[in-house]
Amino acid sequence: MQHAGMAEFDPVTGAAPVALPSMRTSTIRFKNLAALEQVAKSSAKGDRAFVYGRAGMDTHGALESIFCELEGAQHACLASSGMAAITLVFLSLLSSGDHVIIADCAYGPVRRLDHALLKRLDIQVSYCKGTVSAIAEHVRSNTKMLYVESPGSLLLEMLDMPALAQYANANNFILATDNTWGIGFYNVLSLGAHVSVVAGTKYVAGHSDLMLGAVMVNDPSLAKKLADTHYALGYSISADDAWLAIRGARTFPLRLQESAANGLKIAQWLAQQNIVDKVYFPALASDSGHAIWQRDCNGGSTGLLSIRLNCSHEAVRRFVDQLKLFGIGFSWGGFESLVQLVDPQAVAPHSYWNNSTQPLVRLYAGLECSDDLIADLEQAFSIIK
Ligand SMILES: *Cc1c(COP(=O)(O)O)cnc(C)c1O
Repeated sequence: MQHAGMAEFDPVTGAAPVALPSMRTSTIRFKNLAALEQVAKSSAKGDRAFVYGRAGMDTHGALESIFCELEGAQHACLASSGMAAITLVFLSLLSSGDHVIIADCAYGPVRRLDHALLKRLDIQVSYCKGTVSAIAEHVRSNTKMLYVESPGSLLLEMLDMPALAQYANANNFILATDNTWGIGFYNVLSLGAHVSVVAGTKYVAGHSDLMLGAVMVNDPSLAKKLADTHYALGYSISADDAWLAIRGARTFPLRLQESAANGLKIAQWLAQQNIVDKVYFPALASDSGHAIWQRDCNGGSTGLLSIRLNCSHEAVRRFVDQLKLFGIGFSWGGFESLVQLVDPQAVAPHSYWNNSTQPLVRLYAGLECSDDLIADLEQAFSIIK
């Protein structure tokens, strides 16, 4: 990954910049028509050829190859946000009259995409638990795609990706999964998913300074559908954002390791606190998804966890307000720790939540010292005990 997307040596000087410059240009000019035709020919062959800004330039190509490397993919399409990447998957691979089954643990705004757009396009949607048996009950004659997320948003519910893939293949469904959590260690494509969608906004960019998404596939026919729709819809991101994301990606493995180690220490500490009823963190032995995590995640994890608390909804607000190092805010994957008091309505549709009425808090452990983060949690709990 460290060498993916590096600049080629100049054939004349034999030199190359280590950091590829941000290629801020909307178009390329050619010396003559033969030169243009040469590039068009290699583009027709399927090579990544740069002729016009909308499809991206060298900086974008370099970032695409980093995403491919991280996901073990042959093809990547960039998008202006994780949500835009998700939208690209739905609009590229589904048509009016098709049906898609979405795991109920998927990222919340996917339901907004459904309400705002898919309904109007007559793309039908069912939601259910992300298991083969639950999905099988919702299949219709026009079902085309299963859209899942593992581990699920907010509660980190691990899904059985190989089983879902086997089921999808047996029924000719496309299996698309949001792999924002697992990019870099959870190889969903090699576990059988056909499409992986990632919010690069989180760990890959990693510094809370840009929005980015990407869609990765191996199958050439899926790649063509995605590329054609990507081009037709005019998806493009700025070269500077691509450049920043590449810079972030160079330290991604180290940042991930540190954040995940902090997450694990915090999860272990939280699991021992009386006020904490349940810790949702697949790398923790007590998590219900731990066995799947052990089998499928190659030891990788993140700094993202949620806790269900034994306290009132009034007390949890005081706890969150009392935290100093965990900033109140959405997102994760940056350098800074964050806390989110989860809206009960956001988690209510997740079958994994089992209709609990207890408060749920999502924590993201960033790159601060884990002892400091634990001390922060401790002092915030102390005021509500
Ligand atoms: C943040 C996030 C997204 C959306 O990414 P944006 O860049 O914010 O649009 C999608 N899926 C998951 C799991 C996320 O955490």
